Amino acid sequence: MNIDAGVRRILKDAEEGKPINKIEAETLLALPANSPEAAAVRSAANVLSRRRFSNMGLLLGQIGVDMAPCEGDCAFCFFAKSHTTVQPSVLSSDQIAARCERFAAGGARGVFLMTMHRFGFEWFRDLCAELRRRIPPELEILANVGDVTSSQLHELRDAGISGAYHVCRLREGTDSWMNPGDRRATIERIIEAGLSWFNLCEPVGPEHTPAELAEQIWMGVELPCRQHGAMQRFPVPGSPLYHHGQVSLARLGQVVAVVALATRASPETTSIAVNVSNLVGLFSGANAFFPEAGEPDSRDAEFERPDGRDGFTTALWRQSNEITTADCRNMMLAAGFSHLMDANGKPSSPLEPTAFGQSQSAH
Ligand code: SF4
Repeated sequence: MNIDAGVRRILKDAEEGKPINKIEAETLLALPANSPEAAAVRSAANVLSRRRFSNMGLLLGQIGVDMAPCEGDCAFCFFAKSHTTVQPSVLSSDQIAARCERFAAGGARGVFLMTMHRFGFEWFRDLCAELRRRIPPELEILANVGDVTSSQLHELRDAGISGAYHVCRLREGTDSWMNPGDRRATIERIIEAGLSWFNLCEPVGPEHTPAELAEQIWMGVELPCRQHGAMQRFPVPGSPLYHHGQVSLARLGQVVAVVALATRASPETTSIAVNVSNLVGLFSGANAFFPEAGEPDSRDAEFERPDGRDGFTTALWRQSNEITTADCRNMMLAAGFSHLMDANGKPSSPLEPTAFGQSQSAH
């Protein structure tokens, strides 16, 4: 099959160790998702990421610890106060610790604790400190909270968190009430506080242009992020962006691939994530998933899956079962990954077949 000569040249340069620039990223993002050229981009990123990350995968769990109609009111979000139906609820520290234990049992190396844009800072800080004392030491505590000050970040670091997820999202300030400058300032404070910055290109929808995607991706190329990647937007019924629908997994994989090629020379970027967890992403340069629940417990009747009643995860957006650590390991095994990665980027446990979570794709 003939591949466009310009695309071939970009991929050849990447193969030889040259990260793509922003203009080249735009060119690759403008390719139709099911064209031979886009397939070649995904394939090139797959080959390079396997080498870059020694064919190891990374699992980082997620727990929504505080849920309420959110004043951020983002046009894409399940929790936006203008269209949500959620009722306020907070998980107890016992429930959170129990979920963390299951993440650790399933091979996760960190857990994101997610709140709404406004949250009780002292409560969250004390929760992190308590968890740090209670949960396995190899499970990093990572914050996914609203904009915070430098002193708050130092307090969180002292309480035991090692990193924070924060993103200046696509169409920030247009599809959200957040100020893009405030988002970037928080990211810079995270880095200055000595915490790892976790980033994604999100929430990717069909309406985002190649230029918008490349621009948003580039903050994670210019600033040192420990993790980059891409997350699709799930269309929330009743939300203003619902009518746009969602991108295909091929398109999501294409964005992941461009992120992988753009960060090729970024030594601090030690994993590339895709959300929703899916096999196409693993063949497009991603090596990290965010499981929504930890290991199913063999004492549970008929290995019942968690049902999402306790706290929230991205499964709530999909109105679907939570994807477990076992599901994620099975997808990584099916994609030919050999090991899970530890916090230092070294191999931890080999990936082996499991009795749980036989699904091979997102739910
Ligand atoms: S994306 Fe975050 S800030 Fe925006 S409405 Fe949802 S929870 Fe609030």
